[in-house]
Order: sequence, then structure tokens, then C-alpha cells
Amino acid sequence: MLEIIDVTHTYGAYQALGGVKLTLAEGELVCVVGPSGCGKSTLLRCVAGLVQPTGGRILLDGVPVSQTPDNLAVVFQDYSRSLFPWMSAAANVALPLRRKGMDRASRRTAAMEALEQVGLAGAAGKYPWEMSGGMQQRVSIARALAYRPSLLLMDEPFGSVDAQTREDLEDLVLRVCAHHGMTIMLVTHDIDESVYLGDRVVVLSRSPGTVAGDLQVSLPSP
Ligand code: ADP
Ligand code: ADP
Repeated sequence: MLEIIDVTHTYGAYQALGGVKLTLAEGELVCVVGPSGCGKSTLLRCVAGLVQPTGGRILLDGVPVSQTPDNLAVVFQDYSRSLFPWMSAAANVALPLRRKGMDRASRRTAAMEALEQVGLAGAAGKYPWEMSGGMQQRVSIARALAYRPSLLLMDEPFGSVDAQTREDLEDLVLRVCAHHGMTIMLVTHDIDESVYLGDRVVVLSRSPGTVAGDLQVSLPSP
């Protein structure tokens, strides 16, 4: 379970987050939506430990996230900068598993499994520059899945792919990520996407971002 408790953040004199209070239950997929500039990415980066919040606390299963970096994975919008260009898809997916102390054979098995789950079993040996944007983003998602984090953070993960790929990737997230039982926080500016994907949709208001709404979504499962 993720607890975001009165988190504030300022960049110099500019206040980006004005006190965010938000709790994600285990296994929940929560979409954080709001206008451009309201602080969504800042919030996600605070949770990821990439930005040190100016105030407040963020706990993952009761422990400050800054002390449990191994329990989370992040998928960014910019897939072109998130994969190592000199490594194959499989090697990109397998790389973070070294942190877990997994041996070479186990890393390979886990990488191949994750690539299969995202529909890229046949592309394990391909390099990023040999793949479309959508495929590269699938590899990024596979890397996150292989790591088996308890918390998955996604920042506009489908913001840079075409409409058809976007739909495919949205369904992939619902199918695969939900199946893994991970807690997911997904940031998007797209209301339709947030309602389609989220168990809950949390609305951030304009900067300084605060939670302006927290809506339970009940739609028939896709
Ligand atoms: P969103 O993801 O909702 O578009 P961001 O969290 O990226 O919003 O940004 C929130 C506000 O903080 C914006 O006004 C943005 O210009 C500002 N901001 C973001 N990053 C920085 C930074 N590194 N330095 C200064 N201002 C920043
Ligand atoms: P190493 O540098 O020890 O090979 P890596 O972290 O680069 O370790 O790779 C981890 C695992 O991923 C290895 O077991 C490797 O065999 C496997 N791997 C790397 N590239 C590919 C590929 N193109 N196809 C299948 N498996 C691969």
C-alpha cells in the first residue's frame, strides 16, 4: 500500500505541489489526471524518489519510499531515452534484475517471460533502433514487469505513440499488469484514458497541485 501524506514541492520559489494526500490500496490501478503543469509528473517523481519532496511523507508498506527503491519500477513517456541503444530487448529487460542478485540463467528466463507477456517473444534479439516506438515502449513495460515491483509508476506511458498502438498498450496494461496484482499509479492528461484504465481516477487541480477529486470508476471489465 502506498501512502502519500501532505506532499508539497517547490522548484525555487515556484510551488508545484500544494499538499497532496492520497492512498493507493494494494493491487489498485489509480490514474492521476489533471491539466498540463498541475504537478502530475512532479508527484510521480516524488514517489519514484527522483525528486525529494519539500514537505510531507511517502510510505510504501509503511516504509519511506526513499528507503525501498527496489520495490518500484517506472515507465516514462520517452521510451527513446529509457532503453540502452547498444543492448538487445532481452538484455535491456534483464539488466535491472542484476540488482536482485539473480543469476544469468534466471535473468534470461525472466526477461523472455516478460517479453512474451507483452507480445514480443520474437523480438528478444532486436535492438531499440530496429523497433517501432510502440515496440520500444512494450520493452520498457516488459522490463518493469520482469522486475516484479510492488509499485509500478507510469508517466504518460502512451503519450508518444500513435492511436492504434496506444489502444493496444492500454489493453496490455489492463491485462498483464492487473494480472500481476501490482499497485499502479499512472499519470495522464487524458480523461478518457484515465477512466478507461483506472479503478480510481484522482484529479489534481491546477498548480499548486492538490487533490481536487477522487472518483471510484465502475465500468464493466473490458
Ligand atoms: P504536469 O506533469 O502536470 O504537466 P509537472 O509536474 O511537470 O506538471 O510540472 C508542474 C509545474 O512545475 C509546471 O509549472 C512546471 O513548469 C514546473 N516544473 C516542473 N519541473 C520543473 C523544474 N525542474 N524546475 C522548475 N519548474 C519545474
Ligand atoms: P550478461 O552481460 O551476463 O550476458 P545481461 O544482463 O546482458 O548479462 O543479460 C542477462 C540475460 O539476458 C543473459 O542470460 C543473456 O543471455 C540474456 N540475453 C541477452 N541478450 C539476449 C538475446 N538477444 N536473446 C535472448 N536472451 C538474451
